[in-house]
Amino acid sequence: MTVRNLWESVAALGEGFATTFRHLFRRPITEEYPEFKRTLPARSRARIVLTRDPDGGERCVACYLCSAACPVSCISMQSAEAADGRRYATWFRINFARCIYCGLCEEACPTSAIQLTPFFETCEREILSLVYEKEDLLVDHGGKDPDYNFYRHCGIVTAAGGKGTHAGEAPPVNLTSNLP
Ligand code: SF4
Ligand code: SF4
Repeated sequence: MTVRNLWESVAALGEGFATTFRHLFRRPITEEYPEFKRTLPARSRARIVLTRDPDGGERCVACYLCSAACPVSCISMQSAEAADGRRYATWFRINFARCIYCGLCEEACPTSAIQLTPFFETCEREILSLVYEKEDLLVDHGGKDPDYNFYRHCGIVTAAGGKGTHAGEAPPVNLTSNLP
């Protein structure tokens, strides 16, 4: 070892000890969770919910897009169609033991149904209790998008309206109207 290398090693050691020494006289910063809960950033992502339209209907149309987008395959469901033409999930399941809270399901959802909330206190001793069913996921509000109603914009025929009756939608074009 050269004299220069030796001097650099001693200097680095001294710097380390100096840092330790400075911290000996600092007030400890200990946050006593759960008594103290830090305010999370506004866009924190945790516990997932399934939201509803302003009229109370289930937003999820069981299109499987969230399930396809999920990188860990923790969403599953079964689709069905109601008598009024609305699609829905007969069952909808999320395995929170696998979820990595990436938010891709929310990005993929065309109806604003699936949303991540900042609530993160979902620890359980029994791992199977982290499998949430539709009843556990459905909430009675619209979440971040309270006024959005998919069926008022989608152009899909339901008991609530036919083609051309939705918000901002023109009536269907009569394809034979310009024939000679
Ligand atoms: S947050 Fe990510 S990992 Fe969790 S369910 Fe949605 S897509 Fe899957
Ligand atoms: S939550 Fe959204 S993306 Fe997932 S199935 Fe329902 S409508 Fe489709």
